[in-house]
Amino acid sequence: MPKSMSKDAGGPDKPLQRLLGGFIRLHVLHHAAEKEGVVGNWMIEELRRHGYRLSPGTLYPILHAMEEDGWLKSRKAPGGGRRRVYRITQAGRRAFSVAQERLGELLQEVAEP
Ligand SMILES: [Zn+2]
Repeated sequence: MPKSMSKDAGGPDKPLQRLLGGFIRLHVLHHAAEKEGVVGNWMIEELRRHGYRLSPGTLYPILHAMEEDGWLKSRKAPGGGRRRVYRITQAGRRAFSVAQERLGELLQEVAEP
């Protein structure tokens, strides 16, 4: 079995992470649209629950890049410390709704028997 077939979607398994990277970003956007937003550690746990194993060293650069791309906006988490809360932006909402539409279409196609 090639290394890229292992179950681990993050960490050292770069090919699989590249393949599933859009799913990870959409999952982040989905939760960043919730009222309380997301913090990195919570998102790592949430992704783990769905079978993705990302280290902080993998997730944080993704969050930073998504902020740079304008999909997320972060601010310091209440209670101090270095934690940041990420929330979706208006541009992020528009992009997410495009992705939702495409995802629905793709799902229909790939789910066909
Ligand atoms: Zn989730």
